Amino acid sequence: MPNKSEQNKICPVCERLGEEVENFTVKQLVMDHLTELVGDKNYYLCISEECDIVYYNQEGIKFDKQQVKVPIWFKKDAKPKYTCYCSKVTEEQVINAVVKDGAKTVADIIKITGAMQNADCKKNNPLGKCCHKIIQEAIDKGLSMK
Ligand SMILES: [Zn+2]
Repeated sequence: MPNKSEQNKICPVCERLGEEVENFTVKQLVMDHLTELVGDKNYYLCISEECDIVYYNQEGIKFDKQQVKVPIWFKKDAKPKYTCYCSKVTEEQVINAVVKDGAKTVADIIKITGAMQNADCKKNNPLGKCCHKIIQEAIDKGLSMK
């Protein structure tokens, strides 16, 4: 049995443990007409690829893929798949930079694609965090294709 604090972090639909996201970020990313519904609690981001839920909180408020402004990169059918939301750099661009231009590091990707410029991750990234880790994952994916 998960304890109470863990139960609060579980997606009400797929029952997987989500990642905490600050209220501020959720307010920026839900559709404008839903902003008022967000309230003032923090949320969790559902990390399942298959699940339609994006954000949920302990009060039972939830938002699905149709109710947020940006595609969630790891969700099924996300289009485009952004690795850097601030500079709108896609996973495809990162993979191309690795495969065609020989990029190996996040620094290379920043140089080639312009990722992480004008960074305002708290506002743009669905986790409210820097996209560094997502870029690294896309690089690894590109390297494995070479
Ligand atoms: Zn879910």
